[in-house]
Amino acid sequence: PVPVIAIDGPTASGKGTVAAHLAQALGFHYLDSGVMYRATALLAQRQGIALDDEAALAALARHLPIRCEGGTVWLGPENASDAIRTEAVGQAASTLSALPAVRRALLDLQRSLRRAPGLVADGRDMGTVVFPDARLKVFLTADAQARAERRHKQLISKGISTTLTQVLHELEQRDARDTQRSVAALKPAQDALPLNTSALDVDQTVHQVLQWWRQ
Ligand code: C5P
Repeated sequence: PVPVIAIDGPTASGKGTVAAHLAQALGFHYLDSGVMYRATALLAQRQGIALDDEAALAALARHLPIRCEGGTVWLGPENASDAIRTEAVGQAASTLSALPAVRRALLDLQRSLRRAPGLVADGRDMGTVVFPDARLKVFLTADAQARAERRHKQLISKGISTTLTQVLHELEQRDARDTQRSVAALKPAQDALPLNTSALDVDQTVHQVLQWWRQ
């Protein structure tokens, strides 16, 4: 089978950046699964679909007109890279991702990206549900303060005005929702290697994962 590296963890744990760097270093494909939940949320918002209308949301997810190219996310002909990154869309994605029918609807799409020579997949349930046979599973953590600081810096650099307190608050809300839900709750696979990145930068984190991969 085509090898998969699963990188799971909470919001702002650095998964996205680390997974993209890993994929680059290994020449593997890269799946940012959060993008699919975000794209579903964005379209739901635009089409006025309620976040508890499970059947309608699942139908939307099943026919998601999404294409990811490098760092660009296309929804049909639209470059939606920025639109899917807003806080409102992130919270909505977190809400609808608790619906089992939505998660099922996105399974095939996620698995279809497993192509030679390999895939680095980042999300919440890459190692537990989507690719349980992944060759390497890493569960990234970082304390809430460290994650809030990273996210805050990122937002400020994009010209979005917010405070560290606000960012920390939103992050804790999303963590609580992602951890307490009954389906695909945020928890490590039994065979995942935990890595706390509070005191590590991207290069150090990537280096550690590459070391595990080569062992
Ligand atoms: O990782 P990102 O912040 O882009 O994900 C947005 C939301 O989508 C998360 O808060 C999480 O609830 C949900 N998600 C998920 N399973 C994944 C990826 C994301 O439930 N594999």
